[in-house]
Amino acid sequence: MDLDPLDIRILKALQGDARLSFREIGRQTRASVPTVSAHVRRLEALGVVRGYRADVDPLQLGETSVFLVVEAALGQTQRVASAIARLPEIRRTVETRQGRIVAEAILPRESQAARFLRKLGNLRGVIAYEHHVASRRVKEEPRAHVAHGAQVLVDCYECGKTIEGASIIRRLDRREHYFCCRTCEAKFVERYQRLKAAT
Ligand SMILES: [Zn+2]
Repeated sequence: MDLDPLDIRILKALQGDARLSFREIGRQTRASVPTVSAHVRRLEALGVVRGYRADVDPLQLGETSVFLVVEAALGQTQRVASAIARLPEIRRTVETRQGRIVAEAILPRESQAARFLRKLGNLRGVIAYEHHVASRRVKEEPRAHVAHGAQVLVDCYECGKTIEGASIIRRLDRREHYFCCRTCEAKFVERYQRLKAAT
């Protein structure tokens, strides 16, 4: 699904400052408040905008940032990545195409690193890991390069597959729902209406 030019202008504005009011975004993007509001709600529903958080610098608080490159047993990468992501110290985790898991952990004090690394090494399926303690943060700008022609990957609300090409949009109770095909749409709507009638 394509983002339209207004979506892109809104995302740029919000990535710069998540506390902007709809009125201020409307002024910057030359759109009305209700239009901005509808677009923001849609971007939230699509999972493009994940949330609005304070951008707190852990290093400024004297915390320690540890970068990890983890090797998992054959066929275990996904499971190990999920287990790592569940550790409360982990700030971000990715799986790489090379089959490694790269993660960043934030620890309140550097003295806790040994204990944390033991916990990591003891996770089932972890074969080896490298760790690097950050000494200085050179750039921290967790934002997307929102550009014209950006695509949103949307999963079908019925079958869960990523929708290729144009999705079918169906409004139910003022919320948009996205489907890969008419069959999925019909199945979902049938169940939705049945559940609604039962309540
Ligand atoms: Zn589907």
